[in-house]
Amino acid sequence: MYIVPKLDDFSPPSLDRAAADLLAALDAESSAVTDDAAYKNFRDRWMARKNGILTQVNDLWLKAAPGPQKRDVGQRVNQLKTRVEELVAATEQHLRGGASSEKLEADRIDVTLPGNRHHIGAQHPVLRMMDDVVNVFRAMGYSIEEGPEVETDYYNFEALNFPPNHPARDTQDTLFLAGQEKKPTRDRLLMRTHTSPVQIRSMMKTPPPLRVVCPGKVHRNDALDATHSPVFHQVEGLAVDANITFSDLKGTLDHAMKSLYGSSIKTRFYPSFFPFTEPSADMQVSCPFCGGKGCRKCKFGGWIEILGCGMVDPNVFEFVRDNGYDPAKISGFAFGMGVERLAMLKWGVDDISLFYQGDIRFLEQFA
Ligand SMILES: [Zn+2]
Repeated sequence: MYIVPKLDDFSPPSLDRAAADLLAALDAESSAVTDDAAYKNFRDRWMARKNGILTQVNDLWLKAAPGPQKRDVGQRVNQLKTRVEELVAATEQHLRGGASSEKLEADRIDVTLPGNRHHIGAQHPVLRMMDDVVNVFRAMGYSIEEGPEVETDYYNFEALNFPPNHPARDTQDTLFLAGQEKKPTRDRLLMRTHTSPVQIRSMMKTPPPLRVVCPGKVHRNDALDATHSPVFHQVEGLAVDANITFSDLKGTLDHAMKSLYGSSIKTRFYPSFFPFTEPSADMQVSCPFCGGKGCRKCKFGGWIEILGCGMVDPNVFEFVRDNGYDPAKISGFAFGMGVERLAMLKWGVDDISLFYQGDIRFLEQFA
């Protein structure tokens, strides 16, 4: 370990030797520095104000130098000081530089590796189907109306020609809000069982002619199975004008099905019953999976029932007669379809619950 010697001889050769010894020691100690702790010791040993080697050089060489030599010794000590400072700085740089090149090595990126794929969001198949249906009707000049999911008995049933105690109410297991026993029946709140109340609300708002589609969520007290869900989506439609006939209904719905499932799809209508339409019909489409030949999906019948429709019952118009809906002057048709059912038919999904499980393996097929 280098120790700063006391000098007796302040002649240039003696000073040169002393300086050479000091610089040799500095070099040796610098190259022994391999980590931060060693570097700090090294720096303090050489440069600390109190008792660092440079301070000792100042005391033992410069201050001790006799008057005539002071100037020469002062210059030499200054040169040494500069040299020590440079080498201490270089030692630190070497240490950090070494570390950072190791870091660079560790961070090296192999650009030939396959990238990480990020999942981008996609529309849920049910909403996509709902948009598709709405867009088909929008292209035919229909406007879009929405209404509340919590409805009164009046809009959900009574104004749609389901009078209180009408047996047709039993066909829809309704979820009523609790604690309303004291209210009159027509004011009781319920989760709407269909989007049909929006049709009544639209007719109250807008006089004829009227063409609207009403997309939305509906609720029924059904247990979840392969084809039923307590919450599902509907798109209903209503067209009211002078001289609307059943032919308009057939033509409109046939066009809509061809738009959704392809031009080779055929439609047919069967008599049915709904309280708010007269006559009422169920519409079937030719099976899109087998083209009507018969397969497991259509239970080998070649046809699949897809929606309910009919001519608006004049009794319904009576509820909005004040807004220009005089059943003697106008007529109209209405239809309603389950969006999940349309989607199952479109994409060959055989279990409705797949739409609600949020399973990415199922959903990403629609991305
Ligand atoms: Zn089939």
